[in-house]
Amino acid sequence: MASDPKYQAWFESLSNPSERYSLDEIVYTDQGGGLLQVVHDVQALKRHSADEWKQIFDNRARRNDWPYGSGVWGKKEWVLPGVSDENVVSMYEGHTNLFWAERYGRELGLENLWIKLCGNSHTGSFKDLGMTVLVSQVKEMIAQGVDIPAVACASTGDTSAALAAYAAAASIPAVVFLPRGKISLAQLIQPVSNGAIVFALDTDFDGCMEIVKQVSERDGIYLANSMNSLRIEGQKTVGIEIVEQFGWEVPDWIVIPGGNLGNVSALAKGLDLLLELGLIDRKPRICVGQAQAANPLYLAYQKDFEVFEPIAARQTVASAIQIGNPVSRDKAIDALRRYDGVVEQASEAEIMEACAAADRTGLFNCPHTGVALAAMQKLLARGVIKKSDRVVVVSTAHGLKFTDFKRNYHEMNLEDMAPAHANPPIDLPARYDDVRDRMLREIDLRFGS
Ligand SMILES: *Cc1c(COP(=O)(O)O)cnc(C)c1O
Repeated sequence: MASDPKYQAWFESLSNPSERYSLDEIVYTDQGGGLLQVVHDVQALKRHSADEWKQIFDNRARRNDWPYGSGVWGKKEWVLPGVSDENVVSMYEGHTNLFWAERYGRELGLENLWIKLCGNSHTGSFKDLGMTVLVSQVKEMIAQGVDIPAVACASTGDTSAALAAYAAAASIPAVVFLPRGKISLAQLIQPVSNGAIVFALDTDFDGCMEIVKQVSERDGIYLANSMNSLRIEGQKTVGIEIVEQFGWEVPDWIVIPGGNLGNVSALAKGLDLLLELGLIDRKPRICVGQAQAANPLYLAYQKDFEVFEPIAARQTVASAIQIGNPVSRDKAIDALRRYDGVVEQASEAEIMEACAAADRTGLFNCPHTGVALAAMQKLLARGVIKKSDRVVVVSTAHGLKFTDFKRNYHEMNLEDMAPAHANPPIDLPARYDDVRDRMLREIDLRFGS
């Protein structure tokens, strides 16, 4: 099946709905410099009933019928209906596991705590969900004869890993701009391995963003950052998937970490479509967790979003959200207003302790997930989240991409804190008696009554 002309989508200005562009145009912002969003012809989508859509999605999931087995492309009509199947660039992203964190929840007094593991994905973060859509659209345009010399992004690490992988799969040149020394070794080596042109610049994320905007404006390089609203279309499947995985039931809370704030906007956009098309009839509440070191949304929330002031983000272990001037702030604020949203912040110590406590119950969290876990715990302590609530925490990346901070934590190499759950390896000579004594002592210490 080629692209389906029954379903239409286009770019639309957020502030002026009559300003529209075809998805085949290279355009990132409206005439006033504001963000665009992708809008779908909902009337056309309504030709299927809610039950029919559920059936269609359920039937496609995880099958090998190209490209519909992917969590994103199984919902192609809702995401990017105009791209032809042969130009889809997919690595079967999505359908990540949503699991019941029974022991961790029990320790917090929450019976119904679930973790959506978006990091169990091709490049180890949720960025795959958006990048498959963007790179597919680029491949489609190149096939139509549009001149696109390369695709580029500024990144705090995960966007560049996803761009490099999908561009490599499609044989499209990729250029990435990274803040030198501010991303993990795993994140750096991903685009390097995938053959992207990797620049490590002596600046922060916001500085890399300035450079990529210039090469896109002046040199015709295609911009892959989340101000490009195509990525939001793929990422919005996370909210749809969570509901789908609960048998189309809506949880009470979805907690998500936020930096550039594209992901929370996307989460809400997916839920919007579920509501509009009648697949669900109530809303979850949304909580965005921010690192205290990079908390402009939190500060704006304290003032009921009447003002938004960009800040200079300070260093945080949650490096992917070390962003002081988030591009998707208007979309995010709008989303939080629609979903009775809350913003909470977490200090460095709170982030690391939340990660470590949850890791002890069998998880393996990235620091951004730690931000969401810490935020969730604070809302629970304040009674905003109720013990009977069904809570989903969106885990945004795989913990294996972020082992440095865990190592510093467990080896107790931290300046201002004494870790509560440090578990350094035990150095001993290889003598049975010594090992046995210590082993029995440790078992008793950790699990004895
Ligand atoms: C990109 C990213 C985030 C933040 O998402 P935004 O859309 O920028 O708010 C959080 N966690 C990880 C692991 C990321 O890569």
